[in-house]
Amino acid sequence: MNICVCVKQVPDTTEIRIDPETHTLIRAGVPSIVNPFDTYALEAAVRLKEKLGGRVIVISMGPPQAAEAVRSCLAVGADEGYLISGRKFGGSDTLATSYILSEAIRTVEKKEGLKFDLILGGKQAVDGDTAQVAPEIAEHLGLPQVTYALGIEEQDGELRIKRDCDNGYDIISVKLPAVITVVRLPFEPRYPSIGPWLESKKREIPVLTEADLETVDLTRCGLNGSPTKVKKSYTPVREKHGTILSRMPADQAAEKISAMLLEAGII
Ligand SMILES: Cc1cc2nc3c(=O)[nH]c(=O)nc-3n(C[C@H](O)[C@H](O)[C@H](O)COP(=O)(O)OP(=O)(O)OC[C@H]3O[C@@H](n4cnc5c(N)ncnc54)[C@H](O)[C@@H]3O)c2cc1C
Repeated sequence: MNICVCVKQVPDTTEIRIDPETHTLIRAGVPSIVNPFDTYALEAAVRLKEKLGGRVIVISMGPPQAAEAVRSCLAVGADEGYLISGRKFGGSDTLATSYILSEAIRTVEKKEGLKFDLILGGKQAVDGDTAQVAPEIAEHLGLPQVTYALGIEEQDGELRIKRDCDNGYDIISVKLPAVITVVRLPFEPRYPSIGPWLESKKREIPVLTEADLETVDLTRCGLNGSPTKVKKSYTPVREKHGTILSRMPADQAAEKISAMLLEAGII
């Protein structure tokens, strides 16, 4: 089974700062990691490969430093990795990002002389948090998709997906090729052992730019090709306005809270 895993490099912090001018994330000076959900997607891919054979190829779109994210995936079982990076791609919203990634997937298939049976991603990136990119890739490529996978099993050429939902889980069968996004899986992504880790440090990561994606329509890329227009972005200021009800019995306190919530139009 040939598997493409889409991984995003994200800031290793919960304190996301936004550039007030460009309305994009400030990444300078912030250490980066592979999006945690993508590490589960990679582990699932490597486990499928170990069982069924085939290749695992990682692709990541981002600035040059995102090559490090790709390299770290090579250390834990990916066979090959590509960085998608180009000046015309900067400022892409989710639709443009997913379009570029789908063009990159086609290009990588051609370069590697294979067809992907499965495209895996995380359920969402912990910085952008939209959970849109992988489902949009499925749409661009005309493939079926299953999101929020908790478990993936191969059965007679189809995949059986345990899909997380509000009140339990669904079991869904999907024919291949397909796009699947994963949540935290019931196993931990492996750590690199020293040999593969050292080996990965020596690997050149091929970079695909706009010139390499033969059929890419550049009017659908970058800031100008992005239909999302960010009007305003800001970090909300947390104001601590608490009301403490003390020295009264619980039933009176409950009545008071109820009256306050009614007055504020909350209930
Ligand atoms: C107008 C606008 C301008 C923007 N400009 C920039 C910019 O200049 N620079 C910038 O970094 N961001 C920019 N962004 C943010 C950018 O669009 C998102 O970071 C990107 O589309 C991914 O969305 P997300 O983080 O919500 O991913 P999600 O949809 O939450 O991610 C789901 C999964 O998709 C896959 N995935 C997502 N992104 C990538 C990727 N890049 N490579 C490989 N796999 C991926 C991963 O498997 C991930 O787990 C901009 C957004 C807008 C709206």
